[in-house]
Amino acid sequence: MTIPVDNIHDPATWPTGRAVQLEPLVRRVLAPNASPYTFTGTQTYLVGAGADVAVIDPGPDGGGLAGHADTNGQGHVAAILAALGGARLAAIVCTHTHRDHSPAARVLAAATGAPVIGCAALAIADDGPRADAAFDPDYRPDRVLRDGEDLAGHGWTLTALATPGHTSNHLCYALRESGALFTGDHVMGWSTSVVSPPDGDMAAYLASLARLQTRDDRVYYPAHGPQIDNPRQFVRGMIGHRRQRERQIVSLLGQHARTIPDLVSTMYKGLDPRLVGAAGRSVLAHLIDLAQQGRVANSADVWWVTPDALADADAPA
Ligand SMILES: [Zn+2]
Repeated sequence: MTIPVDNIHDPATWPTGRAVQLEPLVRRVLAPNASPYTFTGTQTYLVGAGADVAVIDPGPDGGGLAGHADTNGQGHVAAILAALGGARLAAIVCTHTHRDHSPAARVLAAATGAPVIGCAALAIADDGPRADAAFDPDYRPDRVLRDGEDLAGHGWTLTALATPGHTSNHLCYALRESGALFTGDHVMGWSTSVVSPPDGDMAAYLASLARLQTRDDRVYYPAHGPQIDNPRQFVRGMIGHRRQRERQIVSLLGQHARTIPDLVSTMYKGLDPRLVGAAGRSVLAHLIDLAQQGRVANSADVWWVTPDALADADAPA
């Protein structure tokens, strides 16, 4: 799967600042924070068509942190408030706490008095060479939803679905009345997810993808990129893509021991240079997963395959 960076922002097809109706209960407001990591920007969803509405992934707050790709969402909160019209904001709901998703929760809560309900806060030392959007350390939910727990308003019911991997606190939300699933950054319509250790976990990510395959969702609304109308087929493709990356890593390390930059330059030909760091984090996530399976080992920066993995590779399929 390639990452299309050429068509990153086409305002004609991805208008920011106004609500687009997707189905009777769902509207989308795009934040103006396009970047190599966010594609056209963070997509905030409004759920509900009656007296009250839930807002999923309110987005960046637009304040401070000049130059950070994910925090230039000025005007986005105003657009969400305008889209609410006369409806009451029943809940501000976040899929996870990357800075392009949750910081506007505080601004919206201050403006409306609505509670922040959804994923847990994440206490993490953001000290590594992190290539994806950094975490929002100030996120404070009023109520954490457990896996399978419901949040309901007038005519809508959202059920939390624990989907760790992209982050450990990631939740998807299923809209019971319509069969839609809000997938956050777990499954996106434009690119594979960055899985960045230590919080990002490839084994958990693959298990969370497999979990989606057991469901019968009609459509996915991701936080970035177009909606996904063929969920099962799409997820099968994503799992296949990760398994293919895994095989590729084992094969390349079977040739000789390598560093992560060596693997990235061999595996990701023609990658946007701005995404090399993110690719390295995903390769590291695969290596950690493979090491836990006993298939690769390392000393400092150099990785190689274990004799067991070589024997597996030689065995007839
Ligand atoms: Zn994210």
